[in-house]
Amino acid sequence: MAAVNGMDEEFDFVVVGSGGGSMCAGLFMRSADKSVVILEKTDMVGGTTARSGGVMWIPNNRFMAEDGVEDSFQKSMTYMDATAGQSVDAPGTSPERRRAYVTEGPAMVDFLVKQGVRLRRIKEYPDYYDDRAGGSVPGRTVVAELFNASELGEWRKKLRPNFLQLPGSLDEFFFLGDYNKSWKGKYTVFKVGLRGALAKLTGKNWVTAGAALQGRMLQQALKKGVDIRLNSGVKSFIVEDGAVKGVVVNRDGRDVRIGAKLGVLVNAGGFAQNQEMRDKYIPGTSTEWTATTPGDTGEMLRELMSLGAWTGQLNEMVGNQMAIPPGRENKNGNGLELSTVSGQMDIANPHSILVDKSGVRYMNEGGSYMEFCQNMLKRNETVPAVPSYWIVDEQFMKTYMFCGTFAGTAKPQEWYDKGFLRKADTLEELAKLCGIDPAGLTATVDTFNADARAGQDKVFHRGDRAYDKWLGDRHHRPSQALGTIEKGPFYACLVVPGDVGTYGGVVTDENARVLRPDGSPITGLYATGTTTASVMGRIYPGAGASVGPSFTWGYVAAKHAANAQNWAGAATPPGGARS
Ligand SMILES: Cc1cc2nc3c(=O)[nH]c(=O)nc-3n(C[C@H](O)[C@H](O)[C@H](O)COP(=O)(O)OP(=O)(O)OC[C@H]3O[C@@H](n4cnc5c(N)ncnc54)[C@H](O)[C@@H]3O)c2cc1C
Repeated sequence: MAAVNGMDEEFDFVVVGSGGGSMCAGLFMRSADKSVVILEKTDMVGGTTARSGGVMWIPNNRFMAEDGVEDSFQKSMTYMDATAGQSVDAPGTSPERRRAYVTEGPAMVDFLVKQGVRLRRIKEYPDYYDDRAGGSVPGRTVVAELFNASELGEWRKKLRPNFLQLPGSLDEFFFLGDYNKSWKGKYTVFKVGLRGALAKLTGKNWVTAGAALQGRMLQQALKKGVDIRLNSGVKSFIVEDGAVKGVVVNRDGRDVRIGAKLGVLVNAGGFAQNQEMRDKYIPGTSTEWTATTPGDTGEMLRELMSLGAWTGQLNEMVGNQMAIPPGRENKNGNGLELSTVSGQMDIANPHSILVDKSGVRYMNEGGSYMEFCQNMLKRNETVPAVPSYWIVDEQFMKTYMFCGTFAGTAKPQEWYDKGFLRKADTLEELAKLCGIDPAGLTATVDTFNADARAGQDKVFHRGDRAYDKWLGDRHHRPSQALGTIEKGPFYACLVVPGDVGTYGGVVTDENARVLRPDGSPITGLYATGTTTASVMGRIYPGAGASVGPSFTWGYVAAKHAANAQNWAGAATPPGGARS
């Protein structure tokens, strides 16, 4: 290895972590004929992005235009302002950053499509606040086509697996739960099963959702000459005269200095797997309730703080309500196995509510998962609500999946023995078993049942939004979101504010440059993904509000770094001009 400029190696651009924006930045750099290395500390590529649903919330994208769905820059900005823009004390979101997101997100999608990354739109995926100004009921969410991981050759085993081990797309997965309700549900089960059987015969290895996205990105990145290195954890930055010039990696017990001529992009995830940081920034939450992957340990964020980076929104996470059966907690740092856990899609069904220790319902159970968990933590400040109690009746149990078990099946005795699940013939008995106030619970259920019969939740308006209906049961009437809780036996199950990642970090500008508290950029330093304070502020506007920004700011960072040195004044920078 030849030493260059006091470095052991040198690249034009160095990316720390193989998260969402990493390969996007890598592809951009290669399109500008720059050398780029991605340094990943674990032995697998893709981060939590590969495990995720892999959907990207990109308003005004090309697929909407192709489908003739109305959207525009202005409408998207109106919605961003009505959601992210309402956040208080959230320096990650500014009018300039929101404008850059709405401009660069669609440009990023166009760029990836040109690079051979097969993307499409999920047509039915309402914005989470579709009733606010600029909200869209038709989907603004972009997803990767299914990917045959066998095409990766020897890299196949290095791609981090998805939470869905199914040879089916995310939209097909949404219909699998209808297996007992509709012909479409039955047909989807058949179609996915057949695809799996054919794959066995033909040697295909279909991966879906985030693994399909990151698998396709990996394939294109390798093809275009992005250097990707595993087991290469970055320890620190090399700083000269206040500018970041490279990173130090520990390799085989030795420190290796890697120079970066155009800059360093940090895409190293957040701190969901670090209890010490959670206790400091998001108290009352636990690493045992996170579905993130093992690398989400926050040391790069600490390193950035020690460089003097400005931070914001550190007390936010992408909360996800979770009923976690005993023994299924994330004890080993690998993240929850979601196939055995109940979450948003189950709890938002009819015949289901959430109550606190006083037996009182305190939110619309149908909205965004992030807001759901914010509500839980806020409620817990005045009334014990962590855990809360998920109350359902026999109608629910006969119709819907429950913690990975099929409708109408007996639940494991261990769940009852350990107090995770309680069952009783009357609501009063159920309340007593849980230590909930019986009068509180029966009054709550009486009110809810009257509203459910009328098909309108007068208290929390669950079911008023298209998104609440989408989350519920499309076959249920009069409301897709509401159903009475009246047929015994009744059940109560513990629910905690779990998460799929953190949402705060270093503050970056509209060029993805890391800023100091005085607003000045640290030269040569960019960041994206959950290492940063989200452009979405303290809210989750739609499906893909983590992965979308991670990709977009990775793209923006690479474009800026390449432009800053070599493209200033050029008519059209590689990847297209920003309008
Ligand atoms: C089951 C599940 C489903 C989800 N679905 C969606 C979805 O569909 N859409 C959406 O927007 N969000 C979704 N989320 C949330 C989303 O996946 C994450 O917020 C997002 O992927 C984080 O991406 P990232 O680019 O910040 O980092 P990551 O994808 O987490 O990658 C960071 C990488 O950096 C590596 N790293 C860390 N430290 C170092 C270091 N010192 N040196 C080198 N490498 C390092 C890590 O090992 C990791 O590989 C989901 C999450 C889960 C768990």
